[in-house]
Amino acid sequence: MADPVYLDYAATTPVRPEVVDAMLPVLRGHWGNPSSIHRFGRLARAALDDARARLAAVIGASAPEIVFTRAGTEADNLALLGRARVASGGIAVSAVEHKAVLTTAKLIAKEGARLTLIPVDPAGRVRMDEVRRIVEEERPAMVSVMWASNEIGVLQPVGEIAAICHDAGVTFHSDAVQALGKVPVRVDRVAADLVAFSAHKLGGPKGIGALFVRRGTQVAPLIHGGGQERGLRPGTEDVAGAVAFAVAAELADAEREQTMRRLVGLRDRLEAGLRERVPGLLVNGADADRLPTISNVSIPGADSEMLLAAMDLEGIAVSSGSACSSGAVEPSHVLTAMGLPPETAGPSVRFSLWRDSTDADVDRVLEVFPRVIERVRT
Ligand code: PLP
Repeated sequence: MADPVYLDYAATTPVRPEVVDAMLPVLRGHWGNPSSIHRFGRLARAALDDARARLAAVIGASAPEIVFTRAGTEADNLALLGRARVASGGIAVSAVEHKAVLTTAKLIAKEGARLTLIPVDPAGRVRMDEVRRIVEEERPAMVSVMWASNEIGVLQPVGEIAAICHDAGVTFHSDAVQALGKVPVRVDRVAADLVAFSAHKLGGPKGIGALFVRRGTQVAPLIHGGGQERGLRPGTEDVAGAVAFAVAAELADAEREQTMRRLVGLRDRLEAGLRERVPGLLVNGADADRLPTISNVSIPGADSEMLLAAMDLEGIAVSSGSACSSGAVEPSHVLTAMGLPPETAGPSVRFSLWRDSTDADVDRVLEVFPRVIERVRT
């Protein structure tokens, strides 16, 4: 059997060897508690401070503005819930957010705040007329719009949204978990107050993330204990994880332009080949600016669960936009928000690429996918 093909890098990426190399000396040598005042603690503290400064530099922040968290979900929760605890008022989030934001926003609404879902156009872009209207008329305390979509890869106009919020005195949060390392994510150019990140989407390990908290933005901690991470994320810090995250982010950023140029070509060839070979196939979000790494397609008449299983049997790992809840497969909330009917929102597949993706991976998909589709359609 041919080598397995992994095209699910938006779910997670392998840890890069350089990242492992950077972690090992920390695990072996700088294992002290960064809060200890003795030599062991000071060594760990130095490694943590260095990681914080390096990650901050990648996004144009200053070191104290970085709060390390336990992954992206926690960073989103800290941003939304932590901010809601100090600044009451409504919250507006885009209808296409990751569940880490959407579910948290719904919780805030359950606690009494007004929740507004910002609609998107058929290409998956947030409707700017609605952003303006909501900010002007509803005056929410906070707006959250993701930098790039995990399902369809569409890039949102976060610079413009941040400026509108900034001018109106509204806090703006963006989930940049999928964007970092793939497009420039610079908080010195975009006036966001809070931005969430996760290491495992760009060659770092799982379980380490960060929240950028702009100087002067008040946020309450969600868990309570010691004063680590300026009191915003108590608990002994994961120093090796922080170092790994900084190294992964630096590497991805340094290689970004070259890698993404290559991946745009690969993605376009994949999409053109699929369109040619699979009648009725639609590329979701094709009319918007997108990450070069994500391609989401709908195949009317196919069953996406069967399709993914059949692809897996062929050795190709991809994922579906549909979420399985209470035994029923529901069409993706993202595709539904774009106005796709259940017949096209349901049967969708996400291919996601990364620096390890090759021409041979695309060739395999183009060979196998049409055959699998024919099988699951009949
Ligand atoms: N936000 C987006 C856009 C994501 O794609 C993910 C990961 O799937 C998350 C948040 C959650 O990140 P983590 O898995 O690090 O908790």
